[in-house]
Amino acid sequence: MFDVIIAGCGPTGAMLAAELRLHNVRVLVLEKETEPKSFVRIVGLHIRSLELMAMRGLLDRILPHGRQRPAGGFFAAIPKPAPKDLNSSYAYLLGIPQPVIERLLEEHAIELGAQVRRGCAVADFEQDDEGVTVELADGEQLRSRYLVGCDGGRSTVRKLLGVGFPGEPSRTETLMGEMEVGVPQEEITAKMTEIREIHKPFWLRPFGEGVYSVVVPAAGVGDRAEPPILEDFKQQLRTIAGTDFGVHSPRWMSRFGDATRLAERYRVGRVLLAGDAAHIHPPIGGQGLNLGVQDAFNLGWKLAAQIRGRAPETLLDTYQAERHPVAEDVLDNTRAQTELLSAEPGPQAVRRLLTELMDFDEVNRHLIEKITAIGIRYDFGEGPDLLGRRLHDIDVKQGRLYGLLHRGRGLLLDRTERLTVGGWSDRVDYLADATAVLDVPCVLLRPDGHVAWIGDDQQDLDDHLSRWFGKPAN
Ligand SMILES: Cc1cc2nc3c(=O)[nH]c(=O)nc-3n(C[C@H](O)[C@H](O)[C@H](O)COP(=O)(O)OP(=O)(O)OC[C@H]3O[C@@H](n4cnc5c(N)ncnc54)[C@H](O)[C@@H]3O)c2cc1C
Repeated sequence: MFDVIIAGCGPTGAMLAAELRLHNVRVLVLEKETEPKSFVRIVGLHIRSLELMAMRGLLDRILPHGRQRPAGGFFAAIPKPAPKDLNSSYAYLLGIPQPVIERLLEEHAIELGAQVRRGCAVADFEQDDEGVTVELADGEQLRSRYLVGCDGGRSTVRKLLGVGFPGEPSRTETLMGEMEVGVPQEEITAKMTEIREIHKPFWLRPFGEGVYSVVVPAAGVGDRAEPPILEDFKQQLRTIAGTDFGVHSPRWMSRFGDATRLAERYRVGRVLLAGDAAHIHPPIGGQGLNLGVQDAFNLGWKLAAQIRGRAPETLLDTYQAERHPVAEDVLDNTRAQTELLSAEPGPQAVRRLLTELMDFDEVNRHLIEKITAIGIRYDFGEGPDLLGRRLHDIDVKQGRLYGLLHRGRGLLLDRTERLTVGGWSDRVDYLADATAVLDVPCVLLRPDGHVAWIGDDQQDLDDHLSRWFGKPAN
């Protein structure tokens, strides 16, 4: 009997397993594939995900495997640098091969005590009042108290649950890859300027060390059922640009569509959905993996509290209440970005207008905060603007704030130095620090780093500790 079975050991499943293990939850991750993914697609980790990694002490392990790029140019690839003061110590993009981040997260989960079984596909399940019986493809049955489907866009768990996945089917397909070129950069820049006036869903951008990121429409090339080959890229480049720029030595190549869908519910009884199993959208802006990892971060501590019998009654349902609107917003921004990449004159005019508007700092900042997920504010009721937002990594007298969050516990940061976490000290840490750079007296942070309470009154604090962390210990 496990506490939680997770279907799928992609980035979402691995992150969730690690978060649950911080609270000693017995976790089994079932992964259909016998071997880790072999493709080498580079994904971008955005600011909020980097912050989460820092909050769990993982960032130092991840950074050497990636390449840091300045933040900016994210929204529909409009080339505007980010505002200088982005209010984060991690205001950059980390490009990293997806299999590497998956391996690091899986290793982290295993080090914390999660069990991962590869070559085990979840084929069926049945839930009752006490738990879930999970059936594998070979007929083996396993039992757990909860099941979480982190099994990707074609999620078996979501389908078996009968949860609707409304949205739009894929209309356009695109080829994306990274490869070397055989011509000088100046030649590429000149051609690009000329061509991008007409063909927006096309780019050829340097990614460092002579490698270029290449995006071309997929229409009319290759067999959709087969992975793309270098010749497909060459053919499309010749059609668009009259030259294939001598592309060669591909690092990875991929074909993707623009299907956009969102699960109607994230929870049915003892079964939950997270990551691509709950939402799919085009990769423009590089948000999918980030969104899934952040789902896991939101869900982990809540599900752990539920399992340990300490969760306030409605806590687990705040997962859907908080994360569903975030996914809705990401889907919408990818719809908008997709339109802005259209070659039609109308969308191109809107793109030109938006490019002008992004010269206004507020507009640029709004779009960057959206894509990087640092602008998220959960609805915790009325209160100062900081309530419901994440707190960035401020200096505190013991060092950096995020260094105090590695164990996935709550934290009261008390500038008045006279409050207490009392009977919640088994799950909430306390830091008295009158010097902390905050313009409010005290903040209560949830394990995911979001501000759950602001104030200076002990009774009010106790009410909020109960709201988020359940009954105090005797
Ligand atoms: C071209 C391209 C570029 C992208 N670039 C970015 C980017 O820059 N930034 C970004 O954030 N995102 C990017 N994404 C999106 C990102 O790859 C996905 O959002 C991310 O992989 C989702 O993670 P996940 O763990 O939810 O699902 P997945 O990665 O799909 O993992 C699901 C896992 O579940 C397993 N599984 C499936 N069925 C079962 C079953 N029945 N039982 C057990 N296991 C099962 C699968 O084998 C898989 O390992 C990109 C996507 C594409 C196509």
